[in-house]
Amino acid sequence: MKWGSFQIDCISDGSLWLDGGAMFGVVPKALWNRTTPCDEQNRIRLGTNCLLIRGAGKTILVDTGCGHKFNPKQARIYRIEHTSELLLQLASCGVAAEDVDIVINTHLHFDHCGTNTLLVGDTARAAFPNAVYLVRREEHHEATHTHQRNATSYDPRNWRPLEASGQLQLVDDEEEVVAGVRLLHTPGHTAGHQSVLVRSQGKSLFYIGDLCPTQAHVPLPWIMGYDLYPVTTLRTRQRIYRQAVQEDWVIFFEHDPEKVTGVLREEKGRCRVEEVELFGDRRPETGNRRPAERK
Ligand SMILES: [Zn+2]
Repeated sequence: MKWGSFQIDCISDGSLWLDGGAMFGVVPKALWNRTTPCDEQNRIRLGTNCLLIRGAGKTILVDTGCGHKFNPKQARIYRIEHTSELLLQLASCGVAAEDVDIVINTHLHFDHCGTNTLLVGDTARAAFPNAVYLVRREEHHEATHTHQRNATSYDPRNWRPLEASGQLQLVDDEEEVVAGVRLLHTPGHTAGHQSVLVRSQGKSLFYIGDLCPTQAHVPLPWIMGYDLYPVTTLRTRQRIYRQAVQEDWVIFFEHDPEKVTGVLREEKGRCRVEEVELFGDRRPETGNRRPAERK
């Protein structure tokens, strides 16, 4: 898919299933379950849609999915399903691990940086040997100073080897990674959460990350129970949504299992999303039809 002067592709690392209640925070099940089906354990399916950006002489990957470091119990709890594989999907786009120049992590929760590294025996090594990995400094601090509320979200094997190899680069500013690809600080889910804006030839694509994981989460108060600072999420969303509506950004939803991209529209002070299908048959997965689509 061409995006101005960039080539962009949606790269999936399969799906995971998380508790619907935790995913929708204070929203009652009677509301979220109308549009989002759950399994017998109340879990909902989430995609891990990563973004490959090629242009300006660089190959950039935004987030790296769940990866393969789960023990059997974790794999069961999170119902990790590798219906697609990040590295294989990259290969199908003609990109080898060695080709990736820059990895951007929105944050360091295990479902966003799982393929930052690969296990060789018991040792984790950089999956992208020639890449720098960009993480906001506050996020790295939070990930390395966990408490009882957030510890299970982090696996240090996803970044420790990158510290050792000098590949991890901590970011303080909303810097432009290459001309047209900018990091934006979007706190709330975690203090150091960042999103990525890809702008070229008048078109803007916004990788929103866990500021708004799926299209079902677009209404302002539909904020995850996982968010450490939910009121900050609300304020960040208000600021970002305003700009997204004004500038007609296409939003890329990392965890939506079916509808990866959409545009925000404002009506009577409320935002809603209109699906825009950018990636066609490269949509990450199908299956788990919504109730309305069942025969
Ligand atoms: Zn997530």
